[in-house]
Amino acid sequence: MRTSAKISLLVIFLLSIAVLVIWWAVVLEDRNGKLTVSFLDVGQGDAIFIDAPSGRQVLIDGGRSSVVLRELSKVMPWYDKTIDLLIPTHPDADHIGGLIDVLARYRVAAAIGSSVKGDTGEAKELDHAISSEGARRVRAMRGQVVDLGPSTSSGLRAYLEILFPDRSVENVETNTGCVVARLVYGGTSFMFSCDAPQSVEKYLAGLDGKNLHANVLKAGHHGSRTSSSELFIGFVDPEFAVFSRGCDNSYGHPHKEVIEIFERFEIPTYDTCKNGAITFMSDGNTVQRIQ
Ligand SMILES: [Zn+2]
Repeated sequence: MRTSAKISLLVIFLLSIAVLVIWWAVVLEDRNGKLTVSFLDVGQGDAIFIDAPSGRQVLIDGGRSSVVLRELSKVMPWYDKTIDLLIPTHPDADHIGGLIDVLARYRVAAAIGSSVKGDTGEAKELDHAISSEGARRVRAMRGQVVDLGPSTSSGLRAYLEILFPDRSVENVETNTGCVVARLVYGGTSFMFSCDAPQSVEKYLAGLDGKNLHANVLKAGHHGSRTSSSELFIGFVDPEFAVFSRGCDNSYGHPHKEVIEIFERFEIPTYDTCKNGAITFMSDGNTVQRIQ
């Protein structure tokens, strides 16, 4: 065989491999009607990764440091370097520090954040990183619904509802202005209550009542007694609750009173300190913990 013919054969072979790899990636994008939510183990902080049945991906907060990259690599395939949406709930370092590293590693299409002002170095860096990325910026406001697309197998759509803030919160304390969101897929839902204090929980209970129900609740503010009011827990009425916190946190999270409230309601709790990353899967009817 002539050298040129050998080269053509090699090129065809390599192209075939490339096509196979691309199709393999496309096939893997199909989640078979399953939605997964992972509470990543980022120490003291929050980082929640949502993988919708359509393949759309959302990261709510990113913990304090680049540890989030290691955690993301466990729940995302190696070839996936895009995240559709970031939700920095409020500008405290234990929620946004790692998002700066995420923006350096992943392509990000949009960011929905609270209008609450943060004067930390991390807040300024994140602001700059989002601008350099050219990601679309949206100010979170109650009533917004983020469509996460339909499942090709079940036909159900996943979506995120923004429940709070319902006003400009530029000058309020950062936790009070954080973004509370509820993820819905078919008959199942997840409540992400950031570091919202009891005052916000009670306000939402008044507005939404039983519509706050969710199968899984991320306990507010890492299990601090400043969140998890009985009223709110009663309306959310979750099957499971999650404490996202570091083992060695100096605040004593989760507080004893909060653990007791969940015990009284007979709601099993998981804890990123004890359990590591915690992943739930929903098929639109039921939610189960898979990791
Ligand atoms: Zn926090």
